[in-house]
Amino acid sequence: MLSTPTQLLRLSQGQLNLLEACPRKFQHTYLEKLNSPSNPEQEERQTLGSRFHLLMQQREMGLPIDSFLEADAQLQSWMLGFADAAPEILTTASDNQTFRESEHYRTLQVQDYLLTVIYDLLIADNQQAQILDWKTYPKPPSKRKLESNWQTRLYLYVLAETSDYLPEKISMTYWFVQSEGKPQNIKFNYSTAQHTQTGKKLNQLLSQLTHWLENYQNNQQFPQVLEGSKNCDYCQFAKRCDRIQSTEETVKESLPNFDSIQEVSLNPID
Ligand code: SF4
Repeated sequence: MLSTPTQLLRLSQGQLNLLEACPRKFQHTYLEKLNSPSNPEQEERQTLGSRFHLLMQQREMGLPIDSFLEADAQLQSWMLGFADAAPEILTTASDNQTFRESEHYRTLQVQDYLLTVIYDLLIADNQQAQILDWKTYPKPPSKRKLESNWQTRLYLYVLAETSDYLPEKISMTYWFVQSEGKPQNIKFNYSTAQHTQTGKKLNQLLSQLTHWLENYQNNQQFPQVLEGSKNCDYCQFAKRCDRIQSTEETVKESLPNFDSIQEVSLNPID
């Protein structure tokens, strides 16, 4: 786990998702660095997704992107589709009153943790602030699933906590550039009630994490999800957890390492 000079532990939305889904999985993944073998198809998809993010960043910075588009038909088709579906997002404001930044990074300390977020694009003016996020996997999840994902909850929460915008003036929009047909978006408006609820849930989860980490230092494992949970069905740690015998076990082992938690900025939502 990464420690800052003041010994805060850095956490991202992906780690909160994992912690909430199964604390034991969080332990195996981040504290013990047990990784599953990489799947070439998945790797290729992630590389393409990262390239799209990079391209959008270069565009936002005013750097030329034509040569990249010419060299990659897939990227070109995503970019054209996106430009067609949301031209207003690609238009840089000329009024000097609007703040725009891609890969916008923010941190917020909660308890002994430093929560980190990276917005693919932040557009803010004196009225409102919009967080935008690009997704390059084919099928958008349901809005309900996306709403409960820590990416949505944490991204909105951190902006409200670290800016002067009221929650009601903040929104987050996911753009699925590879959706069948044309790019689709899912937008979340924020509210004070949601903000309070997220703060409560976050504090609860982090208090639990502190407790589990203390126990872990005393050789006690993080809790598992209940037996029979669907989470175990496709989990790479099923054999290790004595849940499903047939699942492939992890391949890499190392001693527990508290420096292993790092922000992964371009993670797709599971
Ligand atoms: S097998 Fe089940 S209990 Fe074990 S880490 Fe995976 S989800 Fe958690």
